[in-house]
Amino acid sequence: MSAAATPAVEVRGVRKSYGAQEILRGIDLTVRSGEVVAVIGPSGGGKSTLLRVLNHLETLDAGTVHIDGELIGYRLRRNVLHPLTDREVRRQRSRIGFVFQQFNLFPHLTALENVTLAPLSAQGRPRDEVEREARELLARVGIAAFADAYPRTLSGGQQQRVAIARALALRPRVILFDEPTSALDPELVGEVLAVIRDLAHTGTALVIVTHEIGFAREVADTVVFLDDGAIVEQGPPAQVLDHPEHPRTRAFLSRTGIR
Ligand code: ADP
Ligand code: MG
Repeated sequence: MSAAATPAVEVRGVRKSYGAQEILRGIDLTVRSGEVVAVIGPSGGGKSTLLRVLNHLETLDAGTVHIDGELIGYRLRRNVLHPLTDREVRRQRSRIGFVFQQFNLFPHLTALENVTLAPLSAQGRPRDEVEREARELLARVGIAAFADAYPRTLSGGQQQRVAIARALALRPRVILFDEPTSALDPELVGEVLAVIRDLAHTGTALVIVTHEIGFAREVADTVVFLDDGAIVEQGPPAQVLDHPEHPRTRAFLSRTGIR
């Protein structure tokens, strides 16, 4: 397989339980290089768990995750999966962007320092190059003027844009977004969606868990409907959002007021 054909994300047969409760019941998902995937579905369906599994913030009970062709979290030796060391997992994670609902910026670091931290410490890149790139990224998300500001002095929308710049600074193959606008005041949602919209189709794969169905329709190549730990259906927005096949998808969309 040529490098260009290697999927950004390849999930096969992933299962995850907490105690007796199975949260992910055999997930198969492929995200092509540069593809934008929107994951929708009811609360408690397993969307956040799926993202956390991709980043190996959770161990797996079964199945595999490959990012850019690399097995995440484990090493396969003689047909047995062995967990990677924390250090190896951190190295893998340093190439996967993650944008959280609650921003999760480091409060004691400025916007610029939040963006440069991982490239400097986890990737060991030279400081002058990393800082130059970080300033470019802050400009790209429209907050160049706030490079030296601390998170508490910024609005939610500004904080989330710092978090997006921080994810981009990893030069990631994929960025995972977990409801990136859910914690924002309504008037700040648009500025964050605009930044994400600008990232779509720039070559970085995006997996976006979102309740913004209109946004999903507009930017996603593929919409995935996840319910009760399983992918019920997936396909282009025009198919899944406008002509859903499964009654559970229809019921969910009608509850959200879309259909
Ligand atoms: P979603 O993001 O779609 O709302 P989640 O992935 O957060 O769904 O949660 C799916 C289910 O897993 C829920 O029932 C939730 O209570 C449960 N769950 C999530 N994290 C944990 C955990 N750390 N321990 C136990 N149960 C959990
Ligand atoms: Mg969630």
